[in-house]
Amino acid sequence: MISRMNETRVLVVEDEPSLAEVVSLYLKRAGYQVQIAADGKQAMTILEKQIPEFVILDLMLPEVDGLSLTRWLRDRSNVPIIMVTARREEIDRIAGLEMGADDYVVKPFSPQELVSRVRAVLRRTGREQAGAEPERDLSFQDIHISPVTRTVTLHESPIELTAKEFDLLYLLARHPKQVFTREQLLERVWGGAEYIDPGTVTVHVRRLREKIESDPSSPSRLLTVWGVGYKFES
Ligand code: CA
Repeated sequence: MISRMNETRVLVVEDEPSLAEVVSLYLKRAGYQVQIAADGKQAMTILEKQIPEFVILDLMLPEVDGLSLTRWLRDRSNVPIIMVTARREEIDRIAGLEMGADDYVVKPFSPQELVSRVRAVLRRTGREQAGAEPERDLSFQDIHISPVTRTVTLHESPIELTAKEFDLLYLLARHPKQVFTREQLLERVWGGAEYIDPGTVTVHVRRLREKIESDPSSPSRLLTVWGVGYKFES
């Protein structure tokens, strides 16, 4: 589990994998740390271990529905909650707000709008401080990383990266010298999805090295910290 991370952790409870993925992507780009639960039961298991700083909760969920989950969560915590509802669920929306949800969005919604709502609720509840770091361009001598255009240039030539390779590089490079464990990287780049093999991180680091290191077998940027994880050297 994640512990000392200085970023706002958001739990996204959503049973549609593609929607969970896109919401997660937008939140991560905004600097939040994201975990996904695919149903109400899984959400409870996660929440019993640790309450995050924010919960985004789909109302129509398998196992335990969103309203029951809201009630259950409100007995334990005042963590901010944004409900995700369908247009026809107006009654549930009202019930959810009465049960203590902080805000709601109606499907289909723009992920960017959801991120703005998260920020607004955090501001309103006075929790936005250790929160999201704004995205910024990073430059280290020969390498330049731009999160807005999602491009990386090396010696001024663009490098082709996959979405995950980019996310991984940006996360590491945004915190030079900070060591991340494989679990932390899985958590933050892949949203902690449990079906992802931890070896995925190793594979992505190797591919990144092939793309950005002049000698991938003896890297000078993406370093392995034996027995711990990886770090970016500026
Ligand atoms: Ca649903």
